[in-house]
Amino acid sequence: MFKANPNYARLQGSYLFSTIARKVAAYSEAHPEAEIIRLGIGDATKPIVPSVIRELHSAVDEMADAATFRGYAPDLGYEFLRSAIAKEYRDRGCEVSAEEIFVSDGAKSDSGNIQEIFAPECRVAVCDPVYPVYVDSNVMAGRSGEWIPWQQRYSNFIYMPCTEANGFTPEFPKEDPDIIYLCYPNNPTGMTITRERLQAWVDYANRIGAVILYDAAYEAYICEADVPHSIYECAGAQTCAIEIRSFSKNAGFTGMRLGFTVVPKALKDADGTDLWSLWARRHGTKYNGAPYIIQKAGEAVYSPEGQKEIREQIAGYMRNAKVIYEGLAQAGYTVYGGVNAPYIWLKTPDGCSSWDFFDRLLETVHVVGTPGSGFGPSGEGFFRLTAFGTYENTVKAIDRIRQM
Ligand SMILES: *Cc1c(COP(=O)(O)O)cnc(C)c1O
Repeated sequence: MFKANPNYARLQGSYLFSTIARKVAAYSEAHPEAEIIRLGIGDATKPIVPSVIRELHSAVDEMADAATFRGYAPDLGYEFLRSAIAKEYRDRGCEVSAEEIFVSDGAKSDSGNIQEIFAPECRVAVCDPVYPVYVDSNVMAGRSGEWIPWQQRYSNFIYMPCTEANGFTPEFPKEDPDIIYLCYPNNPTGMTITRERLQAWVDYANRIGAVILYDAAYEAYICEADVPHSIYECAGAQTCAIEIRSFSKNAGFTGMRLGFTVVPKALKDADGTDLWSLWARRHGTKYNGAPYIIQKAGEAVYSPEGQKEIREQIAGYMRNAKVIYEGLAQAGYTVYGGVNAPYIWLKTPDGCSSWDFFDRLLETVHVVGTPGSGFGPSGEGFFRLTAFGTYENTVKAIDRIRQM
């Protein structure tokens, strides 16, 4: 009889958002009159901007004509999109060539798949709280080690607490990892890292021979000058960092699916094996490229008109973030994030647990958010609200919370 992959049995807990959905469904069934506002969503809600829609339409029409029809896309992405992305890097002063850019269907799959090009015994450091994909994808790959019951973690993971005390950027771990996941601007805390601090991480990784997997899915939300948009703004990142980016939160492509990963040609392992070739091989074997029409839509995001429209869209979300941040601060809450990211990380009042606060918000004011403890032990006592709702609902939700 066949056996299922035993690594899957080692995954911890059920997926956070399924638990939340179940609780909300049960509450709304018992209280059909309650008008529930969802500020737990990590999904775009505004429509795709007009210049991107125009490009999509024309790309669809090209597919209807034998002269312009396209079949399989190149494995690593169309040149027109890779060079548009490379130009953006160049404009920021980053040395990233079009060849080093691998176009994909998004950052979730890339951040889950990228661990395949590293040895099974590599030790993995993650921030705590953490985007769950980083841990679960490594557990699925058999990179968990032994379960340590008194620490509630697998031995192969090094959790790096991100707390009020360290401004939600981790200290270097006591034991040296091989793979380090960093995500800035951060989901769930909404906090950022300074260029100086990120440079220190790059220097550390180069010194100990680790690789940084840098998730910059929220890059376009950055408005402060000392916050890096890319890890390649740091000297030496080409020999220690892979960057993962997404059009999902930056341009509302959550339902269209487009992202990319940068693997520098200069990135080599301990034996001199270059990781670019491994990731290219992996793409060639397991992936057949993002759709042509979606890559054309992605190219339109980089046009001057696309950029202008997307800036306005993001400004709309960030107006919500400000409503949440300021409303809660005025009501006496301790709040973080919300300035360079669409997430607000608030401290639950009176030492209330994250899940108790979730229940209290749902039951007393019918607002849904995300319990911080769902992202890791250091998230306990915190709660995430997102700026992806409508302006009207956001204002209404914050008014209700203020009257609690
Ligand atoms: C939303 C999100 C992603 C997923 O992006 P997709 O491109 O839609 O797969 C990746 N990383 C973080 C931190 C996210 O919040």
